[in-house]
Amino acid sequence: MSLIVQKYGGTSVGDLVRIREVAKRVAKTYDAGNDVVVVLSAMSGVTDHLIQMAEVLTDSPNRRELDVLMATGEQTTVALLAIALTEMGYKAQSILGHQIPLLTDSAHSSARIVNIPKDQVKELLDQKKIVVVAGFQGVDPGGNITTLGRGGSDTSAVAIAAAIQADVCEIYTDVDGVYTADPNVVPKAKKLSTITHDVMLEMSGLGAKVLQIRSVEFAKKYGVPVHVRSSFNEEEGTMVVNEDKDMERMVVAGVTLAKSDARITVTKVPDRPGIAAQVFQAVADAGISVDMIIQNTRSGNMTDITFTVGGADYKRTLEVVKKVAAEIGAEDVAGDTDIAKVSITGVGMKSHSGVAARMFRALADEGVNIMMISTSEIRVSCVVELKYAELATRILHTEFGLDRED
Ligand code: ADP
Ligand code: ASP
Ligand code: MG
Repeated sequence: MSLIVQKYGGTSVGDLVRIREVAKRVAKTYDAGNDVVVVLSAMSGVTDHLIQMAEVLTDSPNRRELDVLMATGEQTTVALLAIALTEMGYKAQSILGHQIPLLTDSAHSSARIVNIPKDQVKELLDQKKIVVVAGFQGVDPGGNITTLGRGGSDTSAVAIAAAIQADVCEIYTDVDGVYTADPNVVPKAKKLSTITHDVMLEMSGLGAKVLQIRSVEFAKKYGVPVHVRSSFNEEEGTMVVNEDKDMERMVVAGVTLAKSDARITVTKVPDRPGIAAQVFQAVADAGISVDMIIQNTRSGNMTDITFTVGGADYKRTLEVVKKVAAEIGAEDVAGDTDIAKVSITGVGMKSHSGVAARMFRALADEGVNIMMISTSEIRVSCVVELKYAELATRILHTEFGLDRED
C-alpha cells in the first residue's frame, strides 16, 4: 500500500466526461489499496476566462479580489470530482486551500508556500476517504485567499506530497511526459524517461510549462519522486530524478520556448553611475522580476537600456519605467510583446566550448535575427522575433541532434 498524490491539469478535467474519467482512474488507484490525495486544476480555459472578466471591468484589477476570483476555478473542479466519486460509491471529500490551511505569504497572484500542516489531510485519509484538494490556492496569515502563480497546481501537488510524505506525486497532463522540446511545437521531440531536477528547473524557468518551476524546487528540496504522465493512457511517463549520468553527458538536453515575454527599451539614458540602479530599483519595488538586460553605449555619454519582463507585468512595468525615465532625463520609453525567447539547456554544456556559437550560426543560416542573448553555465537563450519562435525552436532541436528518428 502506498500514499499517492495525483494531480490532474486543466485539460484532464476539461469537461464532465473527462472528470468522470479522472474519477475512474482515482478509484482504480484507491481500489488497489492505496491512500489517494487528488490535487486539481481548474477546467482548461477557466482561469483565463476569469481574468478576462475582471479585465473588462478595469485595467488593473485589485489583486486580492483577483485571487478570490481565480480560486473559484479550482473550487468548481474539486467539488465536481468529489460528487462524481461519491456517486460511484466512494468516500470522497473536497478541501480548499484555506481549509488545510495551505499557508502562503501575501504576494497575491504569485504567493509562496510557507507551511502546510498535514493533520487535516491525514485525518481524512484515516477515515479512508479520497481527499480532493483544490490546487493553485492558499491563504495568507491575514486569512486572505492567495494563488500561487499560473500553473501553480503542480506546486500545490508536490508541496502537499512533501508535507504528507507521499511515496510518489503523479502529475497527469495532456502530454505523456517531459520531452526534449514542447511536442506541440516540435513534432520530432523525444520523450525522456528521466530528467534531472537541475535540467527540469532550467527548462521550467525558460518556459516549459509542463511543470511549474516551484514544483521542481519542492521536489528537489524534499526529495519527492515526481512522475509526469498522461491522463489519456496508461504509459509510463517521465521521472524527475536527482542524478542521471546519461543526461549529464548530453551537451544539449532540451530546447525551450517562451512566447509571453515583453521587451522594454529606455533610450538616451545619461551614462553615469547609479542610473541602472535607479531604473531597476523602481521595477523591483513594484515586485516585477526582470529577465534579460542589455545596455548599449551611444556617443555623447548616453546609453540605451533594454530589458525583458513577463508579459503579464508588461503594462505595469511601462508605467513604472516611464516615471523613472522622466526623473533621470531619459529620452523615451518604448516596448513591445512581439518577441520570443528560445533557449538550449544541458549540464554537459559546462565542459563543451562553442555551443553558443553553434546556436547563433544555426539561427543565422535560416535567417533568424537574434535581438538579445543571455547565458549561464548550463543554458544559452536568444530573444528573436515572435514570428520566428517555432521555427527557431525546431532549428535548434535539429541542430543539437535531438530529433527523433522514425
Ligand atoms: P496542465 O493543464 O496539465 O497543467 P500545461 O498546459 O500546464 O498542462 O502543461 C502541459 C503542456 O506543456 C503540454 O501540452 C506542452 O504543450 C507543454 N510543454 C512545453 N514544453 C514541454 C516539454 N519539454 N515536454 C512536454 N510538454 C511541454
Ligand atoms: N488553473 C491555474 C492556471 O491556469 C493553475 C493550474 O492550472 O495549475 O494557471
Ligand atoms: Mg500546468
